[in-house]
Order: sequence, then structure tokens, then C-alpha cells
Amino acid sequence: TVLQDSAASNSIDVWPALKPALPRNEQVESHIADLLARMTLEEKVGQMMQAEIKFITPEEVKQYHIGSILNGGGTFPNNDKFATPDDWRQLADDYFAASMDTSDGGVAIPIIWGSDAVHGHNNVIGATLFPHNIGLGAARDPELIRRIGEATAREVAVTGVDWTFAPTIAVVRDDRWGRTFESYSEDPEIVAAYAREMIKGIQGDKSSEEFLDGHHLVSAAKHFVGDGGTTRGIDRGDTEVSEKELAEIHAAGYITALESGVQSVMASFNSWNGKRLHGHKYLLTDVLKERLGFDGFVVGDWNGHRFVDGCTVDSCAQAVNAGLDIFMITAEWKALLKNTIAQAQSGEIPMNRIDDAVSRILRVKIRAGLFERDRPLAGKNGILGSDEHRAIAREAVRKSLVLLKNNDQLLPVDAGKNILVAGDGADNISKQSGGWTISWQGTGNTAEDFPGATSIYTGIKQAVDAAGGEAVLSVDGEIKEDTFSNNAKPDVAIVIYGEEPYAEWHGDIASIEYQLGSKADQELLQKLKAQNIPVVSVFLSGRPLWVNKELNLSDAFVAAWLPGSEGAGVADVLLTDADGNKRHDFTGQLSFTWPGQVHQTVINRNDVEYQPLFAYGYGLDYTSDTQVANNLNEDGESYVDGKLEDAWLMVSRPRAPWKLYIEEEGSDLQWVNGNLASSADDNIVVASIDMLSQEDARALTWKGLRAGSVVLHTQKPQDLSRYLAEASALTMEVRVDEMPTASVSAQINC
Ligand code: BGC
Repeated sequence: TVLQDSAASNSIDVWPALKPALPRNEQVESHIADLLARMTLEEKVGQMMQAEIKFITPEEVKQYHIGSILNGGGTFPNNDKFATPDDWRQLADDYFAASMDTSDGGVAIPIIWGSDAVHGHNNVIGATLFPHNIGLGAARDPELIRRIGEATAREVAVTGVDWTFAPTIAVVRDDRWGRTFESYSEDPEIVAAYAREMIKGIQGDKSSEEFLDGHHLVSAAKHFVGDGGTTRGIDRGDTEVSEKELAEIHAAGYITALESGVQSVMASFNSWNGKRLHGHKYLLTDVLKERLGFDGFVVGDWNGHRFVDGCTVDSCAQAVNAGLDIFMITAEWKALLKNTIAQAQSGEIPMNRIDDAVSRILRVKIRAGLFERDRPLAGKNGILGSDEHRAIAREAVRKSLVLLKNNDQLLPVDAGKNILVAGDGADNISKQSGGWTISWQGTGNTAEDFPGATSIYTGIKQAVDAAGGEAVLSVDGEIKEDTFSNNAKPDVAIVIYGEEPYAEWHGDIASIEYQLGSKADQELLQKLKAQNIPVVSVFLSGRPLWVNKELNLSDAFVAAWLPGSEGAGVADVLLTDADGNKRHDFTGQLSFTWPGQVHQTVINRNDVEYQPLFAYGYGLDYTSDTQVANNLNEDGESYVDGKLEDAWLMVSRPRAPWKLYIEEEGSDLQWVNGNLASSADDNIVVASIDMLSQEDARALTWKGLRAGSVVLHTQKPQDLSRYLAEASALTMEVRVDEMPTASVSAQINC
């Protein structure tokens, strides 16, 4: 039906009709007209090029009248990741000066530098790194998002850069996509609310003096549109949805971004029903610029125009004609510039399209004050990685944590105790920061690359030291007799592990099973369990993953996402103060559904068949007494391991639908047969749990099983918690669907 829908003609009325966010300013418009009248075609097309700084010198910027540069994927020229903030500012000044140098003739037009400051100014050593967007989505705090945007803008402004390629406002529907962590939520509501505030934070409030002042930046909402909706979550793939779904789900963030006055929009690599966005006139021009009233500029993504039908990396009139205003381009910028000029001369690109593109670029440059740029923050000390910004990041970490399991209220951990800290994510700021950190993939970074940052272990140690306890780091979980100064064994182990950093398609996966490192992690958890040490798992990941085995091996389980540079935010919530009182409670709620079945790939909040392990919005706090089963099978169902009575107490997930399977292995059900009583319906039998004697229960081996054979369900699911309390008096219906000879399963539906 999706394809049928989209085959139908475009229906512009599914998009809201919006006015431009900012009223037309006569002065700005006449400034644009004046510049345009004086510019040559070469100068105009030069404005439409954004070249990667590794491939262009300031001298070439001057010579070819290039309008924009970027440092893509975190790279600094010569790959020098140790470039200081001052090196950045110096380079920005050099490019800027070159663009304003008219000694060889031409019109002075300031260059604009764009950078991926997607979780803080993440390419710069010493910057504050905020949690990646997926964690912020769990925080459910739009006001916090605005403050993060402001802090990021200030840190970027210190380095002389004027524009950030953020926020990503993708609504991710398939978590196998390698960019899931860049998304706030699978749900358009959160994305829309956050887009509004993030842009307000980055650019300043559009109705105030602070808008695009030197403390704020130009923001790019990306990637327009449908980037999070590709089939099978394939990066740069095809988004096969109806126009209504595209508008209502995938574009939800653009509506609010535009209302906040976002000045640039980045075209997406993906296609919509087979047609590449970079060449999509209907979406870029008819919808975005006309219907939605966008009067800033559309920038392409990294050589993204080359995917458009009939285009190559150095020639793509189709993209300009579709509405692309700036090409993001690498080594081939000179050839692309030359070809685009020729296409304008031949009329293949109408001159009024060139003028429109350049007007939009100039409008943003004028609005952003680039012509009279005094860059009040450039080169200023005490802003990048400041205590104030780190405090915001730490608050964001606290709020982003989602407590999935806390059996027997293991958390909060008493900070006065012996605490073993294990796992390869424990003392690893690179791992806790994920992709888009210093380098594009976020790999290859060492502790020295993060001055001022705090690992999760360091944060735990600080809290434990302050409370008079002892925290010992043992990555592989080995405990020697003298490990703790009182020679006692650990009271609890906090194990920190999860995905390794990745970015873009490098993070695409075929299955949502947590595989990377999982074997070693499971062994580590098992080792601790075997010593009867209660285990708290802190899971680092860019998306929900199938982790039933890890959940089973953990008494408490925290989804910590990719928290960034302020690892101490984790300890703020997990550990008590010296008096054993909690300091901060968990407030995070899943903004993505957590799957329970290993083959469950696409699972979103409003799906008709919604069978999550932890539903959208789930998140325990210290007042919850929810017990999560310790024996989830690969379908996310719980099986009984031990006495039957245990089952009732082990399973309770009131915010999600749940099931429980019971199987007797190698038996033909003698134990049940005698106790089942027929009901009116032949297929319904009624049994009461106390018909099973304690001895029988102990004699049985229980194990997970597929759905199907026998279904047990309470007659009054809403009374389940009362039943749980009176487990021995519980009466259930048993429906026999099919009676296999060798095994039987029982399922309790709630
Ligand atoms: C990504 C964009 C990013 C750009 C510049 C592309 O590969 O898709 O999100 O802004 O590179 O680094």
C-alpha cells in the first residue's frame, strides 16, 4: 500500500502552509540586490561551492571566490587532531581574510565555515561533549536541549567557525541504521519539540537581539528528508513511505525548525520512493521553499549530488535546478565549479535559479552578521570545555539514563561500600562518547584526547571516595584477595560495556542483536554472578539492542547511551551519598522502543503489533518495585527457572505487554494432567497454581520455549499485582492449543 500511495501524484496539502519565519527586512534585501548586481557569474557560482578544507587553501578561496568551506568528519588539515582551538581560529581567520580580499578585483563576500558540532564541538580537543541525541531524547527536557544548543554555539564560536551541521532531526524507524544515535526519537513528537529548542539554542531566539549574534551560530537542520525511514535502516537508502507519512513522521522536526528560524537545511543522501533527495525538485523547492516558506539556503551533503540520476561528482545541474543552493564537495570542487558555470552560461541552469541560490546564501550571511563580523568569542579562553558547560553536560547525562531493570532494588548502590568497576567501557572516554568524536568514526582516540573529561569509572571513584567507600577498577573483573583494602569481596560490581564507536553506514547492522563484544561481556557477567556478586550493567550503545542474555545476567541494567565527556553524571544517579541516601533519581524514559525478540527489527510505538520488551516511555525510578524476569528467552519471553512460585514474582512489566512461558523438559506432563479440570469450552481447562505441590515443582526443570502449546492467562489481568501477592491462591485458565508429546509451555498473558 505504501508504494501504491506514493505512486499517486504528489499532494502538497499534506504539508502545512507556513510563512517565512522572519519578516522580510528591506535593508537586508536591498543589500542582497546590490551585491548581486555587482557579482560576476563566476563569483555567484563560487558562492554555491562548499569545499572541504583539506582540498582548498585560503589562496584558492580568494582566487575562485569560494563561498563556503567545511571540515568534514572531524578532520583538520593534515589530519592533525591535536590542533588547538587557537589553530582553528587562526585558520578561520585566514579563510575569512582571503574571502574579503579584493586586491585582485571582485566583491568582498565573507566565507562561511561549517562543522559537525553534533554533540558539542566534538572535533576539538578539550571541548565539552554532550550525550548523543538518543540520550537527550530519553531526557524529555526541551529546555535542557536549548541550553545545550547555546553552550555548543559558544564553544564553536571560540574557534571562529560560524555554522554547525546540526541538529539531526531524523525520526528513526529502524534501529539497524548506523545513525540511530544521532536521532532524538522514533517518535515525531519529541523530535519536533527538540528541533525547536535546539535551533533556538544554537541560533538564538529569532525574536530577540541575540539571534545570530556573535554568541550564536547558523544551524543546519539535517538531513531533509526521510533519512531515518530507509528500508532496512540502510544508510543513504530508499525511504518507501507515503507522502503523508513523510510529512507527518519524518518531516515533523522541520516544521518546528523552520518556525524557530533555522537558516540552513541539509539535503539528505536518501531517496524517497526511488528518487534521490538531492535532485528532488518537488521536495526541495515546491515543498520546502514554497509551501513551508523556507528562505534560507539548502546545502547538499558530502558529494551527495553524485547519486542523482545523470550526475557525476563534478557535474550536476539537476541538483541546482531541483533547489540545491550549495554543493558540499571534496577534491573535485574546481571541476564542479567550472561545469556549473558552463551550465549556467548554456542556460541548462536558468540564471534566475543561480540568482535565487546566491540571494539565499547572501541573506543568511547578512543575517548572521558575517560582513561585519567581529567574532566576540573567537580565541577567548575559558569557554571551550568550561565548568559551566560541563555542568550542563553532566546534568544531561543524569537525565538521559534509563533504568531498565532494578531487581530487589539493587540500585542505588551505597557509595560507602566495596565497589568493583569492570568492563571495557569503564575507563574509556572514547567508547562512552561514540562516533563523531575527534575523528569521524570516533575511533583511535586515547585518554589524552579528552583533557578535562571524566570517565564513568572516574566519576564512580570520586563519589565513592567522598562517601568513604572503595571503588576498584578491574576491567576483566578479576578479583584478588587483596583487591580491597579490607580484604573483603566486592559488595557490588558495576560493569560498563557496549558498542564500539561508529558513524554513518559503518554502524549499519543486519540484526539488532548485541554482538560486538557480547561474548566477552557475558563471560565477565557470568564470572561475577558465579561469585554471588550483585551486578549492575551500564550499557553504552547508540540504539536499543537485543540484550536478553546480558539482562538475565544483571540484577540491574541501565541504558546509558553515549554520554560523552561527563561520565560523572552516571555516578550521580547510581550511587548514594555518604549517608546512603540517593542523590539523583532516574528520570529518563525510552524515546526508542526496546526490542525483546532477536529477530524484531522494526518496532515503533504505534505499530499495530507492538510487542516490545520495554515499551516506548519505559523507565524505572527508585520508587518502582518492578521486577524484570531473570530468564528472558530469545523471544523476550520469560521461562521459569526453579520453583513455580518464583515465576509469579519474577515477572512484572506493567508498562509493557508481557508473557511467560513454562516448559517441562523431557516429560509428558504427568504433573499437570492430573490437575487440569475441563471447562465448558473443550479447549479451556482451569487449573490452580497450588494444585502443584512444592515437591513437584522442585523436581521439574524449567526452560524457555516458543509460543504455542498451552496458554495460561489470568482471568483478570488488571488484578495481576494482587495475584502476585497471593500467588498460591492464583487461579488461571489454561487453554490447550496443541499438546506436543515431549514438552509443554505455558503462557501467561497480561
Ligand atoms: C554526513 C553529514 C555531515 C557531512 C559533513 C556527511 O557524510 O552525512 O551529516 O554533516 O558529512 O561532515
